[in-house]
Amino acid sequence: MELTALPAFEDNYLWLLCDSTQALVVDPGSAPPVTEALHRLGLRLAAILVTHHHGDHTGGVAALRDATGAQVFGPAGESIPKPFTPVHGGDRVQALGIGWRVIGVPGHTAGHVAYFADDINGSPLLFCGDALFSGGCGRIFEGTPAQMLASLDALAALPADTLVCCAHEYTLNNLRFARAVEPDNTALANYQQQCQALRDQGKPTLPTHIGLERSVNPFLRSRQAAVSRSVKAHTGCTNDDVAVFAALRQWKDEFK
Ligand code: ZN
Ligand code: FE
Repeated sequence: MELTALPAFEDNYLWLLCDSTQALVVDPGSAPPVTEALHRLGLRLAAILVTHHHGDHTGGVAALRDATGAQVFGPAGESIPKPFTPVHGGDRVQALGIGWRVIGVPGHTAGHVAYFADDINGSPLLFCGDALFSGGCGRIFEGTPAQMLASLDALAALPADTLVCCAHEYTLNNLRFARAVEPDNTALANYQQQCQALRDQGKPTLPTHIGLERSVNPFLRSRQAAVSRSVKAHTGCTNDDVAVFAALRQWKDEFK
């Protein structure tokens, strides 16, 4: 299996996973980069996995489905270009001959889902849309902080070697904020240097993996003493886990 990040718009990645003849694509906000890659690689599009309804994740769905007959999977209850196969957290679906576990990760949108496979080339693989980013997480547009925290807890509990395919190249910005939250985290400082070097060479910082995110991503670390202390010092918030997480998310929203 081969995994490729197709860049689109300013900073989106459309993830393409393929065997020697067929491919699936995740969140095709735009059709042309996908059509071009299929043509270049001589692949048939078998399936489209959609994580949530935002236009930068769904804009190319109808054109790709109409051109290829690919089966579209998307979260039940969100407005995805019809017809599509609705999925819910806890479902198992087959696409490209692979069994995918659907994980409900509401918060960024109300019905946001992620797709997880246990073994692609020997490692687990996660497509998480705008729920989790490297060093950050999605903005809370439709859900509550409690939902977002529970969603990120579910993703953080996946195996450490899970490859994480996020939908945006937001890593450097996220890490600048993460360093403000945890100035003494050396794993974070080292990771920031590695990511800067990748971006200087024009390369993606993704995929990341869950074990690394647990050590650098403040949104997976909001219960760690260093993070909650920093949130409390910055915002005055001294409440429970959800309040600390909500204050951390709001701090990031306002961070320049
Ligand atoms: Zn989104
Ligand atoms: Fe997005």
